[in-house]
Amino acid sequence: MLKVILFLVAASVIVVVAWMLAGIPGHVAASIGAFSIETSAPVAILMLAVLVIALLLLFRLLRGLRSIPRSGVAWRRRRRAAIGDRAVTRVLVALAAGEQGPARKEARRARNLLGESPQTLLLVAEAGRLAGREDEAEEAFRALSKQKDASFLGFRGLLRQAVDRQDWTEALTLAKQAEAAHPGTAWLRQQRAELALQTNNWAEALELVGPDPNRPTYYIAAAEAEPDPARALDFAKQAWKQAPAFTPAVLAYATRLRAGGSERRAQACVLEAWKRAPHPDLAAFALAPQTAPLARVQAAKRLAAANPTSIESRIVLARTALDAGLTGEARHQLDASQAQGIRQRRLSLILAEIEEQERGDTEAGRLAQREALRQATTADPDPRWECTNCHTGQAAWHPKCTTCGKVGTIQWQSNQPPAGLSVVAA
Ligand SMILES: [Zn+2]
Repeated sequence: MLKVILFLVAASVIVVVAWMLAGIPGHVAASIGAFSIETSAPVAILMLAVLVIALLLLFRLLRGLRSIPRSGVAWRRRRRAAIGDRAVTRVLVALAAGEQGPARKEARRARNLLGESPQTLLLVAEAGRLAGREDEAEEAFRALSKQKDASFLGFRGLLRQAVDRQDWTEALTLAKQAEAAHPGTAWLRQQRAELALQTNNWAEALELVGPDPNRPTYYIAAAEAEPDPARALDFAKQAWKQAPAFTPAVLAYATRLRAGGSERRAQACVLEAWKRAPHPDLAAFALAPQTAPLARVQAAKRLAAANPTSIESRIVLARTALDAGLTGEARHQLDASQAQGIRQRRLSLILAEIEEQERGDTEAGRLAQREALRQATTADPDPRWECTNCHTGQAAWHPKCTTCGKVGTIQWQSNQPPAGLSVVAA
């Protein structure tokens, strides 16, 4: 309805204008060279209007012709962007599905079509990693690290690669660059803590790691690595405070107390630990100041009194008694251990020594020794330091497993199989 009204109004205006034009009196004459024209004023006005409209149309046509190449470029660009966007989607799908070949192919396609944008570089790198092409991934991460706003992504990728190939020096450099590019990320903090542990930078690791069950281990290691005795004592004290029954922590603290002249305090720490978790190394530390055999027997008795039924108490009593020539007392401790169902190898070896001392180099003595040594071969294994990760036995405790490199995995394994098992096996 509105269109009809507009049409009628427009038609009326044209009719009125035409009527007014037709009513204009006079005529127009023009001559250019040999060409001359003479007509009435309304026709001249109409011709002029037609000429203006024709010129306008011609101008528009010329402008359209001029922009054809430009619009062709824009069209091609839009088309490449659209194909590139589809390639990006396909890479994401392939990455999510774990399809290595298609991910790499589409990522390269996206990079060709869309150029070196952070998105395409990241996709090329991730597709390369998925396919095990670390060289391709590294090249893309390096290009990414040079992009102003996305350099963190590049350093992050390179850092992950360095950690994977255990190149700790390179990883440390990259972690610093990543920190400079984007400071304060939780992920980077965790990575730097891991690097500090791998490079034995224990003090830094303690600053970077949050709550961690291995903190006593880091404190012990930091104390060992610290050249300043006062700071080393502080670290060791922290270790002992956090794990007062963990032999390496106790000894880290007690050793430094002894070195600083606080022997009573050192002995008190060891005695306290002996009540909760007796260990041969604690006994060795407690008895170290005594050199005379009988004095060592007395020191062993004081220690064992804190935890009399423990196998470690029985062994330290037997060992010191034997060294002092008190074979009866040593044998009594072995019998008590056996009555408790303990049949560890080290007990049989002590028994062999008792037989040797008591009977000397006689036929009966040699027979008794041989029997004790035979028992040793079928006895339960002695407790030992062992890595909970790779299960390798270790001669001594270390903050880091010397075999698999894991931190905080060396534990005292004293869980012996039931005594009856080895007897049956024998
Ligand atoms: Zn290990």
